[in-house]
Amino acid sequence: MTTMRSRIVALSAVSVLAACSGDSTGAGGGGNGAGGDAAGYPERNITVVVPFSAGGPTDTVTRMIAEPMAAALGGRVVVRNVEGAGGTVAAGEVTRADPDGYTVLMHHIGMSTAPALYKDLGYAPLTDFATVGLVTEVPMTVIARKDFPPATLPDLVTYVTANAGEVTLANAGIGAASHLCGLLFQSAAGVTLQEVPYQGTGPALTDLVGGQVDVMCDQTTNTTGQIAAGEVKAYAVTTPERVRSLPDVPTTAEAGMPRLRVSVWHGLYVPAGTPPEVVRKLSGALRTALADPAVVDAMAKLGTAPVAAADATPEAHRARLAEQITTWAKVIADAGVEAS
Ligand code: ASP
Repeated sequence: MTTMRSRIVALSAVSVLAACSGDSTGAGGGGNGAGGDAAGYPERNITVVVPFSAGGPTDTVTRMIAEPMAAALGGRVVVRNVEGAGGTVAAGEVTRADPDGYTVLMHHIGMSTAPALYKDLGYAPLTDFATVGLVTEVPMTVIARKDFPPATLPDLVTYVTANAGEVTLANAGIGAASHLCGLLFQSAAGVTLQEVPYQGTGPALTDLVGGQVDVMCDQTTNTTGQIAAGEVKAYAVTTPERVRSLPDVPTTAEAGMPRLRVSVWHGLYVPAGTPPEVVRKLSGALRTALADPAVVDAMAKLGTAPVAAADATPEAHRARLAEQITTWAKVIADAGVEAS
């Protein structure tokens, strides 16, 4: 079931950049900077594993930063999509990789919800990974196929309540952000819809545009273009403020569903046991990439922004992960969702 795709995204190992990549500021390294093999890192391709389909929101964010990170490291970065089980297949695979900095995982809020959604996850987010840094926090949108009858979020609730047996809700599997947002929507509306899982919301959005599924909740990094082009209908954004790239779309609070509030934080991980100096180099390269005006611009066009430099650190990321595991365990339990 798991498909994998590889693409080399960035290259040109410029020796000057390689020389600079040590980032002697030491910010966020979290280690004692012991040298050894880490001193020459990277000496070969770094693979960044994306736990969902190519072309979806996680893939998009990863490809935005892969090239500037590669340049900052003076190395090459390959993006590989490892799909399945709401992102948990990829996460499990990365825990089994050598802890040498050559296998990196991009993951999102799903890293913190999976422990509450899976009885037998097979890995522990806080102990099986080392955090590298937060990347971005992406608003979500509640959308439907363009000819879906309801015009507003309250209309949508009325409609899905009356037609709950027939309405289909796309997501990227249990543990995906779209799954979480869909749960929150169903819980706030008091309905149970027919969920249709995909390997990522890239293909799910294609089906929504094609009219094969009705409703989805997905990140602006995937939906902005289709909303702007009128290819899908947008009911609300799930953040307290409107999203600048979608100024006409109301917030869930404005549209009468304040409990549906979620934004999708992303972070980079390496297997636990990766040398601190390597984590420090990756983290420094992440901060360099996030400060790149081209990255800031590309993210802004899709309704998001890089996190502050202080959050693109192992420590801030780890604190966020720990806090989010606790937060979502309670929300998921309160919503009556049982681990499967
Ligand atoms: N982030 C996933 C993707 O890239 C979708 C999701 O989490 O809902 O497809």
